Amino acid sequence: MATSPIWASRPKTRGRVLDLIRAARTITRIELAEATGLTGATISEVVRELMGDGLVVEAGRGAPTGGKPRTLVQLNPLARYSVGVQLERNTCVIVVVDLAGRQVARTSFHGVAQMPPQQALPLVAAQVDALLTTAAVDRDKVLGVGLVSYGPQDRRAGVLLTPQPTDAWLDYPVARRLAESLGLPVLLDNDAAAATIGEYWLGAVDPRSTYGCIYMASGIGGGVVVAGELYRGSSSNSVEIGHISIDVNGEQCPCGNVGCLENYAGPSALVRQALATPGLAQRLALNPTDADFLSEFARIGAAANAGDPAARGLLEQSARYLGFAAVTMASLFDVDAIVLAGPSFAVAGSIYQAVIQQEVDRRTFARRAHRVRVVPSVNGSDAAAIGGAVLVLQSELTLGHPRQEDARPVPAS
Ligand SMILES: [Zn+2]
Repeated sequence: MATSPIWASRPKTRGRVLDLIRAARTITRIELAEATGLTGATISEVVRELMGDGLVVEAGRGAPTGGKPRTLVQLNPLARYSVGVQLERNTCVIVVVDLAGRQVARTSFHGVAQMPPQQALPLVAAQVDALLTTAAVDRDKVLGVGLVSYGPQDRRAGVLLTPQPTDAWLDYPVARRLAESLGLPVLLDNDAAAATIGEYWLGAVDPRSTYGCIYMASGIGGGVVVAGELYRGSSSNSVEIGHISIDVNGEQCPCGNVGCLENYAGPSALVRQALATPGLAQRLALNPTDADFLSEFARIGAAANAGDPAARGLLEQSARYLGFAAVTMASLFDVDAIVLAGPSFAVAGSIYQAVIQQEVDRRTFARRAHRVRVVPSVNGSDAAAIGGAVLVLQSELTLGHPRQEDARPVPAS
């Protein structure tokens, strides 16, 4: 694991300067002093340390502003890497990103979450190893792994608190076991929370803004970022927008609540609704016994895009439900923007975006104070895996070290 001896002495200042350089892409030392309120001498010293660690490099000269042109500095994206692993019900996605958060390698495979974790995690570790080797990434430059998944979890202990997809995963120390298999630190986090922070790091939203994210894969989750940091709540199980009740007399949800949004608007609900729509199931050749309901959902999305009125009707109904969830998010957190992320928005994103924007424009409490923009994710289907990798970069580099209530990456030994 790559570490810096200087890091321990002044993590906050160093992290703040590094984050400003990252966000600006190129910046002068004078601009860094103005942005932080620190003296020029302190900025020069911190930049010298960051350059000494290879994290920052000089990048030519900026435009003259009266005096002589100033030297620009920028991140050295090849200085460090991190890995994001997303465990979904049917799919595992692994990405390697550089220090700038850019994806340098990716792989995905099926079936892993259906296995017991004792069998699945060594398989995931082998895939991570193979991906790092293929991408020719030096393991000494890898800061760690962000493992992201759905459902309630104990981030500090690195364990999942859900019996889904199988009972064997409940209370299993996933972060520790993966760290042992890989020989790299592993941080556990929620997939939707990871997708949310990934948008900030990669520059899709104004870093000064407050924004939310609705994440849809096989389930529906969410996240909110305030001043560049995730809103964590008491136990980092916050903004579970898929499990707000939209019908107090609705069906029991596995989460314990009744009438949850996910059971009306999520992909499995749409497949159920399509199977019950006369003619549609036959037209789309839907298979009611297929465990991989995301591929069935993708077919409904494709039919809606192609103008099938029944498929479009179902999708627009799902989008309206999500529109009300977006209004709830905007009214609770007073956000500037809501990002739509995850593979299930990718299948018919323009329909979802238009309907959700319409509901937000009509109903948000503060609509006369400011508009809430509904925007697609920059990271597309891999938003959660990329976000998992970004959480490692943020935790290790710009936050210095996690706060007391946050999980520390579980060390490799
Ligand atoms: Zn629920």
